Amino acid sequence: MIKYLTYGVSPFQQNCRIVFCPDNRNAVIADPGDSARELALEAEKLKLNPVAILLTHGHQDHAGAAQDLARLLNIKIIGPEHGDAFLLEGMSYQGQMLGLPPVDNFAPDIWVTDGQELDLQLNEPVKVIHTPGHTPGGVCYYFEKSGLLLSGDTLFAGSVGRTDFPRGNARDLVQSITEKLFLLPDSVKVLSGHGPETTIGNEKKHNPSLAYMMHLAK
Ligand SMILES: [Zn+2]
Repeated sequence: MIKYLTYGVSPFQQNCRIVFCPDNRNAVIADPGDSARELALEAEKLKLNPVAILLTHGHQDHAGAAQDLARLLNIKIIGPEHGDAFLLEGMSYQGQMLGLPPVDNFAPDIWVTDGQELDLQLNEPVKVIHTPGHTPGGVCYYFEKSGLLLSGDTLFAGSVGRTDFPRGNARDLVQSITEKLFLLPDSVKVLSGHGPETTIGNEKKHNPSLAYMMHLAK
């Protein structure tokens, strides 16, 4: 079973996660929005072997430290889906918009696609679920065997991702959640980009923001 640790990074307290296999000690670092050096040291302290960086989408609070961390650890950046190229290629502009320190524009080593299965050497594959809406190239990463979903800014406990950023789309977001994420088992633990953890079952039952969005998107 996969294990994970959560670190609040960037002024937006984005949930960066170190996801690892306790048997072989291989790890991936998901959404390093900031604090590259601290995350690299943390992996070392935990005696983990980082094999890749995973990005759910191209916003700076999720992807801002990806390049520095990839260089420090000599590992690849995987994801998001290609629809977020305009965000990663506009990182320096995002910094200005969000009032964050400037970050160079970049492209990941690997763009991912819907339904793709990635072998991250964690003793279980991870499946890519393309979930546009918050951003066009946003994805979730599903560890089926361990029942974990890295949901980025698509689904939160009691809330959903904002769709008022460039190329956000409320209808797409509702579809991504109701027609893709809600097909997963109720017991799946949802690890969101901000705020507390939840489960698919909880969010199906009670998510006021989603209900409101569904009404708007009709
Ligand atoms: Zn975002």
